[in-house]
Amino acid sequence: MDKIAVFPGSFDPLTNGHLDIIKRAIDIFDKLIVTVAINTNKNALFSLEERVQIIQDVINYEKLSNVQVMSTDQLTVDFMKTHHANYIVRGIRNENDYLYERDIANINSALADNKIESVFLLAKSQNEKLSSSMLKEIIRFKGDISQFVPKVVLDRIDNK
Ligand code: ADP
Repeated sequence: MDKIAVFPGSFDPLTNGHLDIIKRAIDIFDKLIVTVAINTNKNALFSLEERVQIIQDVINYEKLSNVQVMSTDQLTVDFMKTHHANYIVRGIRNENDYLYERDIANINSALADNKIESVFLLAKSQNEKLSSSMLKEIIRFKGDISQFVPKVVLDRIDNK
């Protein structure tokens, strides 16, 4: 049976840290679905549709295969059932991420009757300090974020 994983997140915007996790996850699983969640946070930079489109553009630009991007308003475990996915991929940058992710993983596992597995990939050291929320602050003050995001994302931000 194919090993299908989801990589859920807000991706507002997608960073080099996210892209690194996507590339590494593709090497592990047969198929990866990047699931972009409705952003309940009022400080959203990009709309749901824009975030999906940007990730699709990055996938095309990088010529990544076996990866798909979809938006969802479902609970991750419900989305997974519909798409026959058994694995959740998440990135871990530091001990705060670890504690947060551990709780989510345990809850997701309980919600899915222990039928899913969460898999954690450690952020590369150069991406450890990188977060979408910090980038949003820099963007609002018109700072240079070119070293932190794929070129496709940078172009979209410049056009905004
Ligand atoms: P969420 O709102 O679900 O935390 P994010 O878009 O912030 O969504 O993050 C999605 C996933 O990507 C999370 O598992 C997060 O830990 C991981 N992630 C975020 N930034 C990085 C990074 N710089 N390096 C590696 N993983 C990251």
